[in-house]
Amino acid sequence: MKDRDILSMNLTELQEEIDRIGEKKYRAGQIYEWLHVKNAVSYQEMTNLPVSFRSFMEGAFPIRGCEQETMQESCLDGTRKYLFRLYDGVYIESVFMRYHHGNTVCISSQAGCRMGCAFCASAIGGLLRNLSAGEMLSQVYRIEKDTGLCVSNVVVMGTGEPLDNYDNLLRFIRMLTDKDGHHISARHVTVSTCGIVPGIRRLKEEDLEINLALSLHAPNDEIRKTIMPAARMYSLEEVFSALRFYYEKNRRRLTFEYSLISGKNDSPECAAELAERLRGFNCLVNLIPVNPVRERSFKAPDTFFVQEFKKLLEKNGIHVTIRREMGRDIDGACGQLRKRYLEDGKI
Ligand code: SAH
Repeated sequence: MKDRDILSMNLTELQEEIDRIGEKKYRAGQIYEWLHVKNAVSYQEMTNLPVSFRSFMEGAFPIRGCEQETMQESCLDGTRKYLFRLYDGVYIESVFMRYHHGNTVCISSQAGCRMGCAFCASAIGGLLRNLSAGEMLSQVYRIEKDTGLCVSNVVVMGTGEPLDNYDNLLRFIRMLTDKDGHHISARHVTVSTCGIVPGIRRLKEEDLEINLALSLHAPNDEIRKTIMPAARMYSLEEVFSALRFYYEKNRRRLTFEYSLISGKNDSPECAAELAERLRGFNCLVNLIPVNPVRERSFKAPDTFFVQEFKKLLEKNGIHVTIRREMGRDIDGACGQLRKRYLEDGKI
């Protein structure tokens, strides 16, 4: 590993490095445990290592994790939105959510994104760079450290297209689920993709028990192409054939995310066409009333239409959930909340 990014090294690689510098092999296990089990952020915390060795490691193998820049906590549901700074000054966001099935972290897989979905805020500045496995892991570790709570679920649904950063994503999943590391169950890991066909096909061969979510957002290519540039690269027929191929081995229920945009993809005809397309699939449709982004003009349908859309799918035997809005008060609106309080003279 040429850049000696220690947080992205698995235990075997770390053992090789430690061996190469002439240190005792068991030191690798100690460091790995500090980094991946005990959420250590610096060598100074690694009190069972000799002081001189700690200083040497600091210079030779810097820990390139996330540094917390700021955090906003929702007063509605305890959701926390973190802004992290990476070693090169790039900023990324992660979200911590408390669900009844466990504490969940939504991580970013890239700084920015090059997929260009029309309704998505992450696409606006394009792709800055891929995140390393260590930077993905560090989002989870830092949030555990900050909250003092265990994280049991990880969703790769933050900024970025995970299958556009395939090798680092895979390394991240293998390390996150490693029994010597954080040991989060693969069944509690979800990867969301806009439909990168070769990535989905490759994922099948990895033999992982992770959950896959597909950002569908339209029942046909025609509408999909107007909001998702990736749809021009891969037709729905290709995407669905890749999903079937993936399902043959993984056999875990697929999730389809469908962001409802008023006047674009929310008509009863769209619901009927969607139901037809999903016929026979072991799947769940997650409806997301589109979150308006300042730079874009998309609007969410009224609640009535969201419910109608849901009912139409359900009539066709499809499982549907409507995404619960978590941390509604902190999604950019936090400053406004404070402002209102200030104007009201409450704080
Ligand atoms: N690149 C991955 C992960 C992206 S974000 C993917 O495309 O799946 C996770 C989900 O949020 C995706 O389904 C994405 O399309 C959706 N999303 C992004 N911006 C949104 C917005 N403003 N409103 C509703 N859903 C949005």
